Amino acid sequence: MNSKSIALIIVAAGSSTRMGGQTKKEYLPLNNGTVLSTVALTFLKSNQISNIAVVIPHNGIKEAEEAFYKDSELNSIISNNQISVNFIEGGQTRQSSVYNALDFFGSKSIKPDYVLIHDGARPFLSTELVNKSIKYTIQYGASVPAVNPVDTQKEIESSGFITRHLLRKNIKAVQTPQGFTFTDIYECHKQAKLDNQEYTDDTEVYDRYSKKQTFVFDGESENKKITYIEDIPQNTHKTSESRKNKMFRTGIGYDKHRLVENRKLMIGGIHIPYEKGEDGHSDGDAVLHAITDALLGASHKGDIGSYFPDTDSKYKDADSKQLLSYAWNDVIKDGWNLENLDVVILLEKPKFLSYREQVIHSIAKTLNVSDDKIFIKAKTGEKLGDVGNGNCIEVFANCLLSK
Ligand code: MG
Repeated sequence: MNSKSIALIIVAAGSSTRMGGQTKKEYLPLNNGTVLSTVALTFLKSNQISNIAVVIPHNGIKEAEEAFYKDSELNSIISNNQISVNFIEGGQTRQSSVYNALDFFGSKSIKPDYVLIHDGARPFLSTELVNKSIKYTIQYGASVPAVNPVDTQKEIESSGFITRHLLRKNIKAVQTPQGFTFTDIYECHKQAKLDNQEYTDDTEVYDRYSKKQTFVFDGESENKKITYIEDIPQNTHKTSESRKNKMFRTGIGYDKHRLVENRKLMIGGIHIPYEKGEDGHSDGDAVLHAITDALLGASHKGDIGSYFPDTDSKYKDADSKQLLSYAWNDVIKDGWNLENLDVVILLEKPKFLSYREQVIHSIAKTLNVSDDKIFIKAKTGEKLGDVGNGNCIEVFANCLLSK
């Protein structure tokens, strides 16, 4: 064991809505335990960690302990080396969660020399990476692993256009563990809390308040954050194995709304600037209505009218994203997953193409699925009929569900 004391903070306070809101991703089975126990085991195998703080959701101690102590190898390392393990309730944000753990170490006068802060949903790092992180943190006072981004990076303005072409050789995607001299990062986080400022990660908090630099070393491409259940190898395996017995259902949805002045044009939850918008009881988002009907139809749950009657004043000017999200949660409860969703919009004006990616992302976010499960395209009415005259928008949505 190193003569310097090194503490580990595992951040696992999030709710994992992308997993369908069922089990937290950190508590899913992996190797001989769970994602969380795998993370802890990998760090403890460095034989340099003396204290662990696991940041967990409010009132979540029972589930957290269950997931953490699932691996017998981890349990014996903990008892043989008298590792102190503590479960700390997180805050509203990742930053406040990290602060709570730092404050635990600081106020309990454990005050380690160094602290490593790691995402609970990154279980695929190696102990070698942990060792490098410790080495560089001791050497430079702060360190972070990073990899070259696979895709070319652009800076985008909020309306969706490119503002800057970033130089690829100067861009890195940072991972965790992020390692710091304990007193430095604790002071920085205290200051950020006082200023009521939120930063993207701990290196930014450190940069902003300590005015010191963080050393960047080579990370590992495997050290990915689990976002979807398929990111866990054994689940991918299970999925393909059980595909033989999988049930598939398609659904179709259609909607049509009049286009009138003094209404916003809402397409898939995105407001598209135009002189007219959809008339309707809710916000009139025909794309989201057609999608809602397709999903409800495929799962035999009903239709948008039975879920949200337009005679109910509750739904006047309602945000259709919320309606879709409510209906989809009901579909998920029956065990359905979305395989894909394909949408056709019939709209004379304005031109849709430049909004496509933004709309796809908005729908994917509402359904908690990855963008590549969704496609959307627009056709004009060739100046024929109600669509062609610019009097309406029509939408067809087709989905495939599986379980
Ligand atoms: Mg409608």
